[in-house]
Amino acid sequence: MKPDAAKMRSSGLSSLPASRNEAGSENDEEPPGSPVSSEPPPSPPPLSSPTPRLTVVPFFRSRTPSSPRATAFRRAHFPAATEKEWNDWQWQVRNRIRSLEQLERMIVLSDSERRAVLQAQAKLPLGITPYFMSLISREDPADPLRRTVIPTLEEFVASPGEDDDPLSEEHQSPVRGLVHRYPDRVLLLVLDFCSTYCRYCTRSRIVGHGAIYPSRSRLEQAIEYIRRTPAVRDVLISGGDPLTLNDERLAWLLSRLRAVPHVEIIRIGTKIPAVLPQRITPALVRMLRHYHPLWMSLHFTHPAECTPEAMRACERLANAGIPLGSQTVLLKGINDSVPVMKDLCQRLLRMRVRPYYLYQCDPITGSAHFRTPVRRGLEILEGLRGHTSGYAVPTFVVDAPGGGGKIPLMPNGVAGREGGDLLLRNFRGRTCRYPDVFGEPEN
Ligand code: SF4
Repeated sequence: MKPDAAKMRSSGLSSLPASRNEAGSENDEEPPGSPVSSEPPPSPPPLSSPTPRLTVVPFFRSRTPSSPRATAFRRAHFPAATEKEWNDWQWQVRNRIRSLEQLERMIVLSDSERRAVLQAQAKLPLGITPYFMSLISREDPADPLRRTVIPTLEEFVASPGEDDDPLSEEHQSPVRGLVHRYPDRVLLLVLDFCSTYCRYCTRSRIVGHGAIYPSRSRLEQAIEYIRRTPAVRDVLISGGDPLTLNDERLAWLLSRLRAVPHVEIIRIGTKIPAVLPQRITPALVRMLRHYHPLWMSLHFTHPAECTPEAMRACERLANAGIPLGSQTVLLKGINDSVPVMKDLCQRLLRMRVRPYYLYQCDPITGSAHFRTPVRRGLEILEGLRGHTSGYAVPTFVVDAPGGGGKIPLMPNGVAGREGGDLLLRNFRGRTCRYPDVFGEPEN
């Protein structure tokens, strides 16, 4: 056991394999804070019929632990697992789909997917929770959710302007895993583990490789930097996915940050409600509510992620008084149309999640097949603004390469000026006048 790990254990933090910090070690992919299983995942039987295509998720308030679709998937592929196990988040993490062999038993892979899966472990690993796997199409490689988590060969094609670290985070890190870009807030990368890996991840250079480990000594250094920097009033905890830490470790981190007098708010960035809603347990939310004001930035990409399970997870978080926002990456062929984005944003509001940012996809290496022209984001905003609730309209941002920060873009509503009148274009394209008599340019 490393001295640091010994300290963590004696302080009540959960046990971790000491080799977790070594890239390429066996345990790289094991969830921090979960018992390490030596058992291979159970072998699911072949499907007797294709998984029904999920295009529109019935939106209802269900009190049953699993949706019928998830239950059918469990029975087909994990017949030995009970409903209780399926709804245990650590069971979900231990039984993630990580190999070509597992995938081939569950879906019909295209040649591009098959070859990419074999190469992916060298880049961003493959990792999909059984729950999220139950949402994707068995037959269709163009299925939106399938494209977000199963690699294709396009991922290995580098295009001009792409970079492994397009946001230059490594150059704005005073302490390893802490990014200080904006004056009054910092980004704390707690770990590099996610329960499910998104193929378009901005941090694919580090996530899933055991490069950032939630060791107490590193986190203490980051907290010390925050303590010595009174300008920091807002700490965003991200990764990797911080909610893959167990409750005890998360509580330790939150309590340490809360003890810094000038830290006004803490935010957690997580995709857990979309990929592992079982993690949002009553015990977790009971713990989180001790650390208010606490905000959460969720990561929803497509309406098909807005399942009854996800809704229940968001309801628990919202009932604990945690304001919820969603950050959505604009992805070609996945959510880059007005109807899909409107559906997503309206579902999010019903889940008490405010659509917060719509991100232009960052130019990470191998992302060309995901990236849209910037004008597509503006067209989508035009299709939302005025046509649905203002709360359902996110801010469209480009995170400027080189560490320039988020730059919001808006469709231009100003059509010109006539004398004292400002000419404005409304959501129907009609020109309206505002008597902007105090806004005339000075001579
Ligand atoms: S959950 Fe976030 S950090 Fe993890 S792979 Fe997806 S985008 Fe990257």
